[in-house]
Amino acid sequence: MRSSVDLRALSRSELEAWIAELGEPKWRAHQILRWMYAETPVYSFASMTNLPASLREILTERACMGRLQVQTLLTAKDQTVKTLMQLPSGRSIETVLIPKLDSQGKAQRLTVCVSSQVGCAMGCTFCATGKMGFQENLTCGQIVDQVSCMREVARERFGRDISNVVFMGMGEPLLNYQAVLSSLEILTHPDTIGLSPRRITVSTVGLARRIRDLARDAPKIGLAVSLHAPFESKRSGIMPVNRSEATDLAALESAMKHHTTATGRRLTFEYCLFRGFNDSDKDAHALARLCHRVRAKVNLIMYNRVPGISFERTSEVRLNAFMAHLSARGVTVTVRRSRGADIAAACGQLANLRETDLDKHIQNKS
Ligand code: SF4
Repeated sequence: MRSSVDLRALSRSELEAWIAELGEPKWRAHQILRWMYAETPVYSFASMTNLPASLREILTERACMGRLQVQTLLTAKDQTVKTLMQLPSGRSIETVLIPKLDSQGKAQRLTVCVSSQVGCAMGCTFCATGKMGFQENLTCGQIVDQVSCMREVARERFGRDISNVVFMGMGEPLLNYQAVLSSLEILTHPDTIGLSPRRITVSTVGLARRIRDLARDAPKIGLAVSLHAPFESKRSGIMPVNRSEATDLAALESAMKHHTTATGRRLTFEYCLFRGFNDSDKDAHALARLCHRVRAKVNLIMYNRVPGISFERTSEVRLNAFMAHLSARGVTVTVRRSRGADIAAACGQLANLRETDLDKHIQNKS
């Protein structure tokens, strides 16, 4: 028996090539993409009514459309929504919808934080996801599914569409490069999800070569780098990626300079403050200098403790001093204090959002 091809795991060009093998014109691939990634996606080839009946039959016989199953939907006190979604392998990933509410409780901005892998191979010592190790790459369709699901939730709960997407959930997006690129194409194409690329940010631990690739392949997409320490030895102590010459701070700095020059966009440093480790004036001073060299702004994150990991969150006093130090040196700095935003503000922090932190509002979806 012929094995079935998952069309939602294919990029646009792969789908065109697959359709061409069936003797069909390229534009049939575009019709299929529109069905698969419509506002209300279609998961049955029989429902793709603008395709000839003969092609629908062939598709039903030879192809499938993999999808994520929503397991639970949980709402935090600050209206942050987290979903657990199950992959065909039985493993689960997490996606978060973070609302920015005005004083009347109306959503001004709705950001979806997506996962790109199950677990992560990078092993950062402060990270809950890193403790899981790498388990599985997500397909392009599984990444887009997370956005589609949260889009529906956003409309139901907040009466408006999502405004931003950040790749800051589980996994290192640049280690699942092709699937992430394909998902960016689908998320931004006007025939499918149609988001502005300027409203999408990919966050990386700092894979220098891939940062250069991203500048070439997706120059309009925002880049965030999880920095967490401005010195080689300190960064190597908490982020194993920094121990290789190909991806240490020196290599990363060169790649970031290339990215900002090639794209004309400033990048963002994600910087999680750990008490007594990376929150001194000396750290702030070195961070400010690095920001000027690579044209970066800083997003400071208050660390949420992970059971079994000894780092502590910095104090409010230290946070304010650190922030003031950066501002005084002309660095644009923001800080995320609220729980929901904290959780999604840096890669690997998602696993901190435990059910005990959330309201009892749980919906089971089939
Ligand atoms: S912080 Fe990011 S890159 Fe590091 S282990 Fe966690 S998920 Fe992976």
